[in-house]
Amino acid sequence: MRADVIAIGDELTTGQRLDTNSQWISRELAVLGIAVERHLTVADDLEDGIRAVRAAAKRAELLVLTGGLGPTADDLTRDVLAAVAGAPLELRAEALATVEARFARRGVPMPESNRRQALFPRGSRIIPNPEGTAPGLDVDLPTGSGTTCRALALPGVPAEMRVMWRDTVVPALLAATGGSGTMRFRRIKCFGLGESAIEARLPDLVRRGRDPLVGITAHEATITLRIAARGADEAECLARIAPTETVIRDCLGNLVFGVEDDEVEDAALVAVAAAGGSLATIEAGTCGHVAALAAAAARRRGDDRFRGGEVLTPAAGEALATDGLALWAERARHARSATHGLAVGPVEREDGGDVVEIVLVGGTAPVRVRHRLGGDATIRLPRAARTALDLVRTTCLAGAGPTASAEARA
Ligand code: ATP
Repeated sequence: MRADVIAIGDELTTGQRLDTNSQWISRELAVLGIAVERHLTVADDLEDGIRAVRAAAKRAELLVLTGGLGPTADDLTRDVLAAVAGAPLELRAEALATVEARFARRGVPMPESNRRQALFPRGSRIIPNPEGTAPGLDVDLPTGSGTTCRALALPGVPAEMRVMWRDTVVPALLAATGGSGTMRFRRIKCFGLGESAIEARLPDLVRRGRDPLVGITAHEATITLRIAARGADEAECLARIAPTETVIRDCLGNLVFGVEDDEVEDAALVAVAAAGGSLATIEAGTCGHVAALAAAAARRRGDDRFRGGEVLTPAAGEALATDGLALWAERARHARSATHGLAVGPVEREDGGDVVEIVLVGGTAPVRVRHRLGGDATIRLPRAARTALDLVRTTCLAGAGPTASAEARA
């Protein structure tokens, strides 16, 4: 089956927002074995939309549309699909009841404009939206040569789109491609090696056609391995995922820090807690990224293992390098009564590249890492900060928790 992905919205065509939905949808379709031929981006304009969808329906067997399902006059996806399908829009009582119920739960009256979201081209199917008001549409479009092209329209809001994809679109596409049942995913998060080095440690897991399928992606030095399994139901999918997850964990050991939405900073605080400790930070070269990540993780986790951090100006950072980072890390933990002190030094020039030194104290002996700053300006500091926090994680996991004397001094 060949598919086109169509993203709709002025926000996209004017460059105000990056179309990440098409990227996401294409990856998901690849997992299902459906090749994507084209991405199209269309403005909120009825005639443009009709032209684009009509032409795409002639070429592709499947269209996935995202965006333009809202209640306002510029949300035109349903009108576009009705026009291309040659079917009038009709009010569906069950869709209206769902939209009304959502407003009722929030205790606000439903604006009249939201009735639009219960309009569907005659003969189309509803894709329920458990996360928002805009239901999706599943409609057959004429190709002009006696056949039909299936179009699935989903809202633009990524969180809504993803849930609808998992709950309704995946089973529908599995059925359409001769399969049945459903699909489930498991994301294993790793840190400490690059994408290809991680892949090299896995015994031929990341390979087309493998079942369950394992995909690998990298974001700000965090590597995600995603296991995708098909099965009759959720339980069967999870049972099929488990052995692959075990292989991954056995091969990667400590490089695996978490699953699903976990970040390195969450895992660092979990490891600090498991070691019975707490963390204070001081940083120069990372401009507050270490403290920001740790504070965000502490808030997510609702714990007090992160005791706070200090961010130094470049000038003060020079003193930090002169005195020796371990001394500053010690001061940081004493100042905040923490068992562990993490210090990141100023950016230094070394062999033509930028480097920061990272020191963790509070375990049996100071642990040091020299981290080379790589990547573009937007990711190099978060990446360095995560490297520092990963040092906390791996050191605490390795059993270098606070010594009795370190705790006493803290
Ligand atoms: P809703 O009624 O729930 O708003 P909608 O289908 O009308 O859904 P849009 O109004 O098109 O959605 O977009 C809503 C928001 O979703 C946008 O402001 C943007 O934040 C996000 N969004 C839309 N399209 C995309 C896209 N292609 N990639 C990433 N984000 C998107």
